[in-house]
Amino acid sequence: MASSCQRGLILGFAAASPLLIAAAWSWSWTLALAIVGLVHAAVLLPVFMPRLGWLGPVVTRFETEKPEIWLTIDDGPDPVDTPIFLDLLDRYAARVTFFVKGELVVRHPEWAAAMAARGHSVQNHTQTHPAGWFWCYGAAALRRELSACNAAVAQATGATPTLFRAPVGIKSPLLHPQLDRLGMRLVAWSVRGFDGVRGFDPERVAGRLLAKLAPGAIFVMHQGIRDDAGEPLSPRGLERVLEELRARGYSCTIPPPEALR
Ligand SMILES: [Zn+2]
Repeated sequence: MASSCQRGLILGFAAASPLLIAAAWSWSWTLALAIVGLVHAAVLLPVFMPRLGWLGPVVTRFETEKPEIWLTIDDGPDPVDTPIFLDLLDRYAARVTFFVKGELVVRHPEWAAAMAARGHSVQNHTQTHPAGWFWCYGAAALRRELSACNAAVAQATGATPTLFRAPVGIKSPLLHPQLDRLGMRLVAWSVRGFDGVRGFDPERVAGRLLAKLAPGAIFVMHQGIRDDAGEPLSPRGLERVLEELRARGYSCTIPPPEALR
């Protein structure tokens, strides 16, 4: 079943087609091209803007009155970073959601199991993380990415994911019907630390995230970031953020589904 947003887009295309022919025939090709541009923008903007919900609902914050945020950590499990992350999170009494890659869960199921056993939530970040092409995936390929990752997480942790984060946040226009089919929700963020970009600096990562600190904010960080010598960088960023959150009186919580907005 198409969502109301998708029905709106389909109707938009249907309405634009006769308008396009009329514009080209009666008025001008410039007007016709402008209509084509607008119709394409209506589809491509929500695909490439992770927080834009024109194609279907996207979670970008959660409802709370308390000084708490939802810290989400993408791209694990990583046999080097995950153990350090889990110890750091325990030390700061932080509970987080890990959006994991299914193929890494298959390779390191013990670390996905440890995330769940230590009180964190383990959710779906695709099976193979096809960041470059996910936006143009068809229904069958999307189904494979979602279902394979769900199966890997269920096998390792005993719980099937209900939340999904798209690789680098870029959606496919066909994603929402597949999520609906599996009873899953798409989660974006309110702010990202850009910790995966070159020139990693824990102070700058923390600065970007903390600049948008507010009750109900969703932060994104990553595992598996290494320097040129192969040394893990991600734990330094996480520790800096946890220190700063504690200093400002904030905690990290996993919000209940009904609080997601
Ligand atoms: Zn990712």
